Amino acid sequence: MCRHLGYLGPAVPLARLLTGPTGLLTQTWAPADMRGGGTVNADGFGVGWYAPGSAEPVRYRRAVPMWTDTSFAALSASVSSPAVLAAARSATVGMPVVETACAPFTDGRWLFSHNGVVRGWPGSVADLAAELPVVDLLTLDAPTDSALLWALVRNRLRAGVSAEDALASVVEDVAARAPDSRLNLMLTDGAVLVATTWWHSLSALVGPDSVTLASEPWDDDPRWTPFADRLLVVAQAGPHPGVRTRALGPS
Ligand code: GLN
Repeated sequence: MCRHLGYLGPAVPLARLLTGPTGLLTQTWAPADMRGGGTVNADGFGVGWYAPGSAEPVRYRRAVPMWTDTSFAALSASVSSPAVLAAARSATVGMPVVETACAPFTDGRWLFSHNGVVRGWPGSVADLAAELPVVDLLTLDAPTDSALLWALVRNRLRAGVSAEDALASVVEDVAARAPDSRLNLMLTDGAVLVATTWWHSLSALVGPDSVTLASEPWDDDPRWTPFADRLLVVAQAGPHPGVRTRALGPS
């Protein structure tokens, strides 16, 4: 199962979150808490970040292991951002290894990632997919469960649903139809950072002026706090960074 992370706080070099000694790179080849199959996250990666003064993110994705992309290592050392969402992919069996299947998915100011699998996809969630405009179905980023989840979340955001309620309602609707799914989602617009835990790992690192949510801690900093299962997690940056949660369910 993939790894993902989100960061809000003072601008940091992408390398600190991704290619440096801490961060996602190590979790691509030596993840510590893979659940539900997979040993490495080598089927591609992606990162989205917000340039100063820009409401819309820049996105970089590749269908190769992060450790093979030496250009990205150089790039990530020279780019800083106050809001980042990144993911490393371990493709679910049967789903294509292509750049367009790598998170983050994006629309306008939004960035989205899914860590997990929708059991019985696509048949188990066919009736949910029917709520999407046909054009959205025809233009999915990729024929994967994650791309469909993003289309569902995006559709609810476009209808005016809040980020929190869009993530929560999609997890609950999918879990009701596809039990045993793993549905750790993450969504940001550069200001709010929202995530879910649904049968997969997630931890928070709250610093004096920043908050990071990640599938797993990248070091042994005692401030890392793991979340319980079936939660909606809302990260808050600013002068008093922290996280609040609310229960998801029923399954
Ligand atoms: N099922 C998704 C995919 O194949 C997510 C992958 C994962 O979390 N392992 O793209």
